[in-house]
Amino acid sequence: MADAETTPDTSYDVVIIGGGPGGYNAAIRAGQLGLKVACVEKRKTLGGTCLNVGCIPSKALLHTSEMFSAAGKDFAGLGIKVTPELDLPQMHKQKDDSVGQLTKGIEFLFKKNKAEWIKGAGVIVSPTQVKVTGEDGAERMLTTRNVVIATGSEPTRIPGVEVDQKRIVDSTGALTLSPVPKKLVVIGAGIIGLELGSVWRRLGAEVEVVEFLDRIIPGADAEVATTFQRSLTKQGFKFRLSTKVTGAKAAKDGVVLTVEPVAGGPAEAITADVVLVAVGRRPFTEGVGLEAAGVKTDKRGFIETDHYKTSVPGIWAIGDVTTGPMLAHKAEDEAVACMEIIAGKAGHVNYDIIPGVIYTSPEVAWVGKTEEELKAAGVAYKVGKFPFTANSRAKVNHEAEGFVKVLADAKTDRVLGVHMIGPTVSEMVGEYCVAMEFSAASEDVARTCHPHPTKSEALRQAAMGVEGWTMQA
Ligand code: FAD
Ligand code: NAD
Repeated sequence: MADAETTPDTSYDVVIIGGGPGGYNAAIRAGQLGLKVACVEKRKTLGGTCLNVGCIPSKALLHTSEMFSAAGKDFAGLGIKVTPELDLPQMHKQKDDSVGQLTKGIEFLFKKNKAEWIKGAGVIVSPTQVKVTGEDGAERMLTTRNVVIATGSEPTRIPGVEVDQKRIVDSTGALTLSPVPKKLVVIGAGIIGLELGSVWRRLGAEVEVVEFLDRIIPGADAEVATTFQRSLTKQGFKFRLSTKVTGAKAAKDGVVLTVEPVAGGPAEAITADVVLVAVGRRPFTEGVGLEAAGVKTDKRGFIETDHYKTSVPGIWAIGDVTTGPMLAHKAEDEAVACMEIIAGKAGHVNYDIIPGVIYTSPEVAWVGKTEEELKAAGVAYKVGKFPFTANSRAKVNHEAEGFVKVLADAKTDRVLGVHMIGPTVSEMVGEYCVAMEFSAASEDVARTCHPHPTKSEALRQAAMGVEGWTMQA
């Protein structure tokens, strides 16, 4: 075993701790920029939360469960007679196969871009030293000019609700349930609760959502949230809003959850086969050596940064471990910007244009300010809105639920925000990201020819609506 204190065996320009979307994109970009880079990751595979237990497996289950549900409920009306039968082990297997292929793909990209994966847990010993402990306990010391912390996040826990990943699960446990629970209670009406709740609802579970606030998806546009809740209720979701969970008892065959109104009132017991705790995520920095290195965190545990620089020169931080939306594409953009700054270039992220998506059915997508934010800031704005019931492609596809709403500055017509609920809006929101990146006015989008018949015409029609000349019906 190498003497960790005295025999540094390698010297790098950048050592990144964490191989998720922040860490792996940083490693690849560093390699492209000609920096000597190593990425320390303790999981068996690269890709972090997103590829292993987040974005990718959840989207795999959302896709297949939606197909299963459509085959059972919608195909007959389209003239296709089938009687679907669920093969849950195969559904999980195809999800695992996709995850395996994608994580291997990152290993390939590392090799291609001369980024080294060092397997093990990293701890910052000094701004120029990272000690890595492998699975077998072997230690090695890396010396480096820069350390980047990209250690991500973990699920937030609720006191009195002990996650055992069997009866009481977090998002990771909810990705591998088998069999389909008869009744699933979801704590938290945020993105994870509604995405994973949708998976198990479509596969046959009764789903009840307990939410502390008086609305679902806090932070998203309120009109979208109301429409979304109505749609999920039609799909069979039950909602208990303004309700807090005070405890949970798991037994062999189920869970008893105690809840009470936030405003006060009698406690009630809810029984469930499985409870999913989805009340947010918190930064993960355990064992990284922040304190000893003097890296400052805020009250909630997020690493404080200024253009990815932490309070210690030479130590940087990106992704979920820093403030801002906990999204893979935010981590990825920060990774690129941080590496470019380290390489002496002008790295930049436009935090006003980070889209959000909920991959349910209908999907929800947005970018920019909400109406509530604009009102609070006293900004005068105009609204253009277009329903998918008036969009021919959505109509013929029998997926005409939802709308597109464009918010434009009342004086300059610059697009300030776009909020959508409807079919494949996840794939369409990027159009507005590009438009907004180029400081487009709503008229720019309104006068841009879009192909017919496509759902993307709804984006243009909503922009036309800002000046009141929507045409399609
Ligand atoms: P992470 O992906 O969390 O990666 C951090 C990595 O660091 C981990 O692999 C961890 O093992 C490693 N690590 C930690 N400490 C050490 C150490 N000391 N030494 C070595 N390695 C260490 N975002 C989206 O944009 N779209 C989605 O659809 C989406 N879906 C999601 C679904 C679920 C169920 C969940 C839980 C999250 C989802 N997210 C989604 C969020 C997304 O996964 C995160 O925003 C993203 O993974 C953050 O990337 P990161 O690199 O900052 O951290
Ligand atoms: P969230 O912040 O989206 O939602 C958590 C919900 O739980 C909120 O509505 C909150 O009011 C509620 N809540 C908090 N404490 C509660 C309590 N004690 N009782 C009842 N309700 C309570 O968090 P999440 O759904 O856990 O997701 C975490 C993060 O992961 C998200 O913020 C998002 O950034 C990321 N994510 C993104 C995607 C995507 O991009 N499609 C998918 C999944 C996760």
